[in-house]
Amino acid sequence: MNLQDQSYTIQGLQPEEIVSEFGTPLYVYDSSVIRQQVAKFQKAFAAIDHKVKYAAKALTNINILKLMQREGLGLDTVSLQEIKMGLQAGFAPQDIVFTPNCVDFSEIEEAVEIGTVINIDNLSNLEKFAKKYGSSVPCFIRLNPFIVADSQSEKVAHWHSQSKFGVAVSQLDQAHQLVEDYGLHIYGIHIHSSSVIMNPEIFQKGAEAVFEMAKQFKDLQYIDFGGGIKVPYAPDDQTIDIFQMGERLHNVHQQFCREFGKPVQLWFEPGRFLVSDCGALLVKAVVRKDNGDRDFVGVDSGFNHLIRPMMYGAHHEIVNLSNPFGPRKEYTIVGNICEIDNFAVNRSMPEVKEGDLLAILNAGAYGYSMASTYNSRFRPAEVLVHEGKAHLIRQRDTYEDLMRNQMEINL
Ligand SMILES: *Cc1c(COP(=O)(O)O)cnc(C)c1O
Repeated sequence: MNLQDQSYTIQGLQPEEIVSEFGTPLYVYDSSVIRQQVAKFQKAFAAIDHKVKYAAKALTNINILKLMQREGLGLDTVSLQEIKMGLQAGFAPQDIVFTPNCVDFSEIEEAVEIGTVINIDNLSNLEKFAKKYGSSVPCFIRLNPFIVADSQSEKVAHWHSQSKFGVAVSQLDQAHQLVEDYGLHIYGIHIHSSSVIMNPEIFQKGAEAVFEMAKQFKDLQYIDFGGGIKVPYAPDDQTIDIFQMGERLHNVHQQFCREFGKPVQLWFEPGRFLVSDCGALLVKAVVRKDNGDRDFVGVDSGFNHLIRPMMYGAHHEIVNLSNPFGPRKEYTIVGNICEIDNFAVNRSMPEVKEGDLLAILNAGAYGYSMASTYNSRFRPAEVLVHEGKAHLIRQRDTYEDLMRNQMEINL
């Protein structure tokens, strides 16, 4: 949705038109925004030998995966199902990275059969892997992101010390022992830090620490920096400048390759960065009410469709498409789930009347992919606007969908 010129159109289409065809609530994605974000990302790291693996879990619709594949990206997956969707979308197995966390070893075996890149997150699975495959199948290991965090910040350091992700740096000796004992071939290290790197300087320090660690891995060909690049949600949100990040990384990478004595390719796994901004959740204001204290706008959706505000306290801009320039008032925008279900609290926005169409912005990433049928409500439909045309890419749930796997017994 084009916010810059506040026209709120999607490739020239009016959201009202799209909604009159497909109804609300509705997820709408703009393929041109995805392409722009891909191009921006590629440009920021153009000076570096690198590959981009789209993190599927942000937005998993098969058409989005296909779009990423056509854009020349690889795929980052966290489950066997995402791998299968990736294959269906046309990704070659070797362009898919499997980065699961605390999974049964049988899942890793299946991914080896399929031929994806395997990224192992704990010593237990690393040992099973070493025993089963020895030197015959190379793997990545995932490191605890502690080393790229801003160690100045106690909060972040605490968060990382609690983190279940990756092999702790203090356990690396055990990993190297497996290399020695079984001839394990570790050709990549991986580090994914969830949205904690906010400034290029800290990022550079973190990257230097990763490169330092990388020197211990003699077979290394790849370093995967994961995802976690923030996008602005609120108008005054601070985010990292990826062009500066690219420049700084370029310098430390070059120096590393010289010292290491051979080139190492860098991988990235952006999810949110590529798809957050492309999507909006379009909802209808169905109830206006006032409890004497707050002014509520009830919409035909809820946290079952977009859980980020309730789960993470995330801010999403909300636009009143029916009255974008009306006088501003303060509202609490709520969903219809029978629990506290806020999309926004005391938000100043143009006056809302029942029947108005609202757009909850930045809903492409972790929107539909985290949606559920809680309260036995249907998940929304999804529409992709591509080359000036709106395509239905997922139907709204039906009553049959809710009942599909239920087995009625004789009671
Ligand atoms: C979720 C995830 C990503 C993507 O994170 P974003 O914050 O969406 O960029 C990348 N890599 C791994 C391993 C992940 O689990």
